[in-house]
Amino acid sequence: MTSPLRKNKLDENQTPSIDDYLRKGHTPMMAQYHLIKEQHPDCLLFYRMGDFYELFYDDAVTASQVLDITLTKRGKSQDNDIPMCGVPFHSYEPYLAKLIKAGYKVAICEQTESPEQAKARAKKEGKPASKALVNREVVRAVTQGTLTEDNLLDARQNNFISALSTIGDEIAISWLEMTTGAFLTQKATANNFTSIIESISPKEIILSDTLQDKNIFSEFIAFNQQIITPIPESLFQSDNAAKRLQIIYDVKTLEAFGDLSRAEVSAAGTLIDYVERTQKGKLPHLMRLQSINDQGVMEIDAATRRNLELSQTLQGSKKGSLLSSIDHTVSSLGARLLHKRLMAPLTNCSEIKKRQEEIGVFYDHKNLKDAIRDYLKELPDIERALARLSLDRGGPRDLKAIQNSLFLAQDIKITLDSLKDERLTDLVGTLVQSPDTQNLADTLRRALKEELPFLARDGGLVKEGYHAKLDELRNLRDNSKRHIANLQAQYRTQTGIETLKITYNNVLGYFVDVTARHADKLMVTKDQKDNLSNDNPFIHRQTLANNVRFTTPELSELERDISSAAEKAIAIEQDIFMQLTKAVIEQADQLSVIASGLAQLDVASAFAHLAIQDKYTCPKIDESLAFTIIEGRHPVVEQALAHNHDSFIPNDCTLEDVQTLWLLTGPNMAGKSTFLRQNALIVILAQIGSYVPAQSAHIGIVDKVFSRVGAADDLARGQSTFMVEMVETASILNRATERSLVILDEIGRGTATFDGLSIAWACVEHLHEVNQSRALFATHYHELTVLKEELKSLSCYSLQVKEWDGDIVFTHKVEQGSADKSYGIHVAKLAGLPQIVINRAKDVLSGLTSGSSNAKNLSKDLPLFSQMRKEAEKPQEKSELEQTLETINPDALSPREALEILYKLKEKL
Ligand code: ATP
Repeated sequence: MTSPLRKNKLDENQTPSIDDYLRKGHTPMMAQYHLIKEQHPDCLLFYRMGDFYELFYDDAVTASQVLDITLTKRGKSQDNDIPMCGVPFHSYEPYLAKLIKAGYKVAICEQTESPEQAKARAKKEGKPASKALVNREVVRAVTQGTLTEDNLLDARQNNFISALSTIGDEIAISWLEMTTGAFLTQKATANNFTSIIESISPKEIILSDTLQDKNIFSEFIAFNQQIITPIPESLFQSDNAAKRLQIIYDVKTLEAFGDLSRAEVSAAGTLIDYVERTQKGKLPHLMRLQSINDQGVMEIDAATRRNLELSQTLQGSKKGSLLSSIDHTVSSLGARLLHKRLMAPLTNCSEIKKRQEEIGVFYDHKNLKDAIRDYLKELPDIERALARLSLDRGGPRDLKAIQNSLFLAQDIKITLDSLKDERLTDLVGTLVQSPDTQNLADTLRRALKEELPFLARDGGLVKEGYHAKLDELRNLRDNSKRHIANLQAQYRTQTGIETLKITYNNVLGYFVDVTARHADKLMVTKDQKDNLSNDNPFIHRQTLANNVRFTTPELSELERDISSAAEKAIAIEQDIFMQLTKAVIEQADQLSVIASGLAQLDVASAFAHLAIQDKYTCPKIDESLAFTIIEGRHPVVEQALAHNHDSFIPNDCTLEDVQTLWLLTGPNMAGKSTFLRQNALIVILAQIGSYVPAQSAHIGIVDKVFSRVGAADDLARGQSTFMVEMVETASILNRATERSLVILDEIGRGTATFDGLSIAWACVEHLHEVNQSRALFATHYHELTVLKEELKSLSCYSLQVKEWDGDIVFTHKVEQGSADKSYGIHVAKLAGLPQIVINRAKDVLSGLTSGSSNAKNLSKDLPLFSQMRKEAEKPQEKSELEQTLETINPDALSPREALEILYKLKEKL
């Protein structure tokens, strides 16, 4: 694949001419191909030839491999075969989808004139028609970030394209979504630009090709190579970018958009410029540029996002992520909004409360919730339909989507109005339709058939009765014989000639045919004709031995109409389609507002549904530093356990006053990581405005959530497990504030025991003394619990286990106090390590803990492998449970006795 960091030719004007390629011995067509390909070096070129898009040279080799299609050849270039492959024009989309998914960009090059037009042009230019080459142009460069087709996009995910710009020390990010027209900017710093981009999770990032040489960006670029499109530095000039924005929004200054930094202007203007170039001058319907610097979004860095598995698991699947377990939205609009919200939790209390209130309405009125969700299940993807229509890429079904959405919005509004609940005033307000929008909905309903073709060019989209001329033409097309017969009958009555016929031949076309005997009646002189009334308009065409033939203006027109009725009908339909599209685009602003209102309703009712179904509660959110979760649960683990008919054990967590920092100890598998994560997830859920899985929750706004959970190699970035652990920990200790929530799991485990313990120790002290964040610190280093004496806001908690019959039982309950051991060997036994290894480990452990042995004499005294045979031969010790069971003879027991024994056994657990 072409290196993504290869320079793009967007700003290089010195392209060779077609003659340069002709001189090199290429045929005119291949010369034209080279000329066009030269302009799009970073794209695979789909070069239209008749019914196929053909690819040549390396493009063909790549495409044939990715698409698994045959590689052929076409002619030669400097004695070498030119590789070629092609995809049919009528069904190219699946192929295009596969290439885009594989990370390629595709330039679509169309024929912009017909062969006949090319010949006529050649003639005008004094060239032989045989030399006429059809003009071709790239009409669109398809990139992942600029897709609009439904079948190329995930309906439940946003598809943002973003630009990163730096001017001096300023950094800014701008992003837009082709399908919704959402267009935003945000200032960034060297510390948070990755976390901002992660929160947007764009499908394509454009940046200057010089950034990879700058230290702070090199790692980011290396990690995101697949989705980065580098473009020349010169395109990021803020002056030009400002002009671009002024033109697009038709304003003299950009002040109205807020206090935009130069880097923000550069990012936004360059992004628009890039989109325009890929769309060959067409822009989607853009909303007002919004600078979101003051909006207050919780910061979640890339590592935390990954660790908490917000939208995908560590293995990359959606199933098992927080998003998949809380998503009950029923429309693609709602699903995308929910995803967007999850990526950017709020820090503004009143905004959060507003969202809570909206959920509250549906929580309180379950029937209403169900009714609205039933409506929304029918909601088409109005945002994407609107985007395609404004990019001239829409079809009749997109118009239908707009029509249906508008009527659905009306129905929903009526339903909500009847409730008269003030909490929904703003949301219901978004659904109010202006008279123009109502007219649009009515017009679409009058104009469009119920079943619609995919493309307007095929016709068959306009309803009967909408356009008189169209009806007439269709009638004509479909009933030509009947029309001729009607006219014949009319002429027979008019002339009184019973044998008058209208017939057809290739020379005359349709004509009126009468026997010579009757011809005089219809023969009229010019003078007479001038005086003839309209109902006697016969014009002589031909006299044969026995018959005379006539035509009439009406018959000629009918004939013309019949022969071109089908084409005319399609032309009228296309015209109507264009008018309707224009009418939709004129209402684009209102349609976007309605779409966003419907999406918000979907999210609010889905959250209410989740809250009722999974017993979530509305958290209290304020500006304090409170953190009290009573009976909190992990939303994902809880669901997974429920599938297995197990129940989740809820736990409290209070990070306030004298215990803002919890040191959590406990055996392996007891549930430390689950507890840590559940508290972070509850905060995130609370700040996206959702209810939370707890009996009650009081959370003072959290500005940043940090999590360092588990160990993972990041080989892609060339970092070892321990290095990754330290990089993430460094970022936390450097940036967490008093308002942040920090969860740290097993810091220092990736290195030697004493190094690890020392690092963990120092981290706890730093968190307590410097960061002063609300924090949970899970560790197996029980030595750390002595810090409780020194650090006044540190409390020790542990996950309890019960020991029974030499085994352990996890209660998953968090209690005050610290654990005295890790029970690692018990867990190893549960995991199925060979008994001999378990026995040996127990011996080693008791040697080490009693202080009777050191590592050296342990290896001398009890070499594992010399013991193996002996150990294997040792009879296995029977547990108490096994011994009891051995004494029981089930056949001799009554049901009651059996039950009693069962109770007794259970008591021993
Ligand atoms: P380790 O120290 O080995 O990483 P851990 O203490 O972090 O272990 P977790 O990974 O959090 O343990 O939990 C282990 C398993 O225990 C989970 O996969 C889950 O199935 C179960 N579990 C954890 N917490 C609970 C709970 N509160 N209620 C019920 N089951 C739980």
